[in-house]
Amino acid sequence: MSGPVPFLDLPAQQKRLGAALRERLDRVLAHCRFVMGPEVTELEERLARYGGARHAIGVSSGTDALLMVLMAEGIGPGMAVFLPAFTYTATAEVVLLLGAVPVFVDVDPQTFQISLPSLEQRLKAIRQAGQVRPQAIIGVDLFGQPAPWDELNRFATREGLFLVADCAQSFGASYKGRKLGHEAGATTLSFFPSKPLGGYGDGGAVLTDDDEKAALYRSLRSHGEGRQRYEVQRIGLNARLDSLQAAVLLSKMDVFEDELKRREGVARAYDAALPSLVRPPVRVPDSQSAWAVYCVCLPSRTLRDSLRDRLTEAEIATAIYYPKPLHQQPAYQAQHDGIALPVAERIGEHVLALPIHADLSDEAVAYVLAVISQWAEEQDEPQQ
Ligand SMILES: *Cc1c(COP(=O)(O)O)cnc(C)c1O
Repeated sequence: MSGPVPFLDLPAQQKRLGAALRERLDRVLAHCRFVMGPEVTELEERLARYGGARHAIGVSSGTDALLMVLMAEGIGPGMAVFLPAFTYTATAEVVLLLGAVPVFVDVDPQTFQISLPSLEQRLKAIRQAGQVRPQAIIGVDLFGQPAPWDELNRFATREGLFLVADCAQSFGASYKGRKLGHEAGATTLSFFPSKPLGGYGDGGAVLTDDDEKAALYRSLRSHGEGRQRYEVQRIGLNARLDSLQAAVLLSKMDVFEDELKRREGVARAYDAALPSLVRPPVRVPDSQSAWAVYCVCLPSRTLRDSLRDRLTEAEIATAIYYPKPLHQQPAYQAQHDGIALPVAERIGEHVLALPIHADLSDEAVAYVLAVISQWAEEQDEPQQ
């Protein structure tokens, strides 16, 4: 076996989905209800059932899902929203779009999930400074593993903060024996093609058990529509999910459990055979990851970059999530109060994501491992 090993193999996935995908797409092309067609309703019912929530509302992206949830909570100027510094930009972006202040929280050195001790410290400091009012927390299931939801819920309840679950990377994962989807006041999903439940374009959803909030989200995704068409109740968005996208996602739902099993199989194969220089991801206890990302950790930036170069030479695609934490990004620096977040600041130099997806063959996994082992052996040799 040799390369190339792609990071994501959408052509292979389409082939695997086969005629069922085309049939669903053809049905939409026949009925022509491209906006809010029957596929959207069908998908929403399936998502709600799967995630164990009373309601699912299909939306245009994971980012819009987050934005709508914060809008529904009235987040705006003078308010603070707490979120991990080591996440995708969308989690923080929506806070700033609404004129509120993102408060960056450090992450756990083992699991890279939001750190409860850091969250406590950050909340205390923000309360003492007294400039903005703490209002909400966005927990993120980084790389497909669950954030510490039980602890986050206890903390949010005690402190009177609204808890949002950013499950963009983790839909399909489970925590303490239950599928993610109802761990917080609202759960947001993304169907970006590289996410575990990925569509063929942008899409997302909000899950909630709250009937009133569900109605509010439905209104917000459609220009703040009231009960009647063209009755404008509030300022909203155009954030609907397309029927064609919903059709793709219904096809993906049919194979989702098989895909998750395959991803777990790949993860285990990597876990079992990585050389000691390359630390596999630390599992969150009592959970099952959706494996959006299989992220290994190297002892230094030099070694990480060296391994990445070797894999690139061998035509094995890799990625770095994330090279820089959000509070050090140009767009957010001015928002940050200057507090050091040492773990988030360090790990970007050590992490490397290996290919993991449902169409990765055993041969490809063996090839990736062989290249890594060869590289590791060379590192052990005494320097000339
Ligand atoms: C992908 C992602 C989002 C945004 O989802 P989009 O559908 O791309 O808008 C939000 N949060 C996290 C953690 C993500 O990984």
